[in-house]
Amino acid sequence: KISSRLQQIADRLPEGCRLADIGSDHALLPVSAVRSGRVSFAVAGEVSDGPFDAARRQVAEAGEGHRISVRKGNGLEVITAGEVDTITIAGMGGALIVSILTTGEDKLVGVKRLVLQPNVAEELVRRYLLERGWFLSEEVILEEDGKIYEILTADAHPDAEQLNEELYRERTLPGGDIKLSRELLLELGPRLTAVPNDVFFRKWESELRKLDRIRKSIATSSLESSREKEEEVGRIYAQLEEVLTCLQ
Ligand code: SAM
Repeated sequence: KISSRLQQIADRLPEGCRLADIGSDHALLPVSAVRSGRVSFAVAGEVSDGPFDAARRQVAEAGEGHRISVRKGNGLEVITAGEVDTITIAGMGGALIVSILTTGEDKLVGVKRLVLQPNVAEELVRRYLLERGWFLSEEVILEEDGKIYEILTADAHPDAEQLNEELYRERTLPGGDIKLSRELLLELGPRLTAVPNDVFFRKWESELRKLDRIRKSIATSSLESSREKEEEVGRIYAQLEEVLTCLQ
């Protein structure tokens, strides 16, 4: 049985798709997804020796070598253009996910869906998707073993630009003059803010506590430049606090 984080990712794979799972580690996701019948063929890509060997073993032990090709390489270099229609990249930072997608952009032809689960810097992934014309069709936030994860699903869609435009349109929050700007929507998630759940609030309350700690540690510095930084962090803190209050 796979973790509920991986299961939620698997649930977003189109029926019968051809998948590339990049940074597959033990290939748990592809093994589970082909076994359930959801995925017809998968590539498990790994850049590091240890995880690559683990993936090979896992696939061999599962007897799925005919449906899962384990390949060693950096990012999307393990696939050829047109080979898969769905890509998952999970469990790494947002900056790395964006760099993998940017470097391998020529491999994205024919790809219809991306399911991405950044551990940090989700806003970088949203910004990439928006700029590259991928329609953000779903956002999920979940908590498992005390950790909070976001899963972003993006689709190649003929009207992606227009749909994203609506999704990221600046909104005024009820009961005030607080605006959810595009920048804030990229940070918080345009869909997550539309229907914020308990996990969403827990994540951002914890971010507020982090910002408060940063502000306090800057405040102890005697450097003149620290005043400006302290004010900047204070502004971000106040804005986020206000937004969360309005959303609640
Ligand atoms: N995707 C799995 C999951 O979500 O449970 C494993 C996540 S694991 C924390 C991240 C994996 O990504 C590591 O096994 C690492 O070797 C691999 N990785 C990091 N950078 C990569 C890259 N540029 N190309 C392929 N794999 C990469």
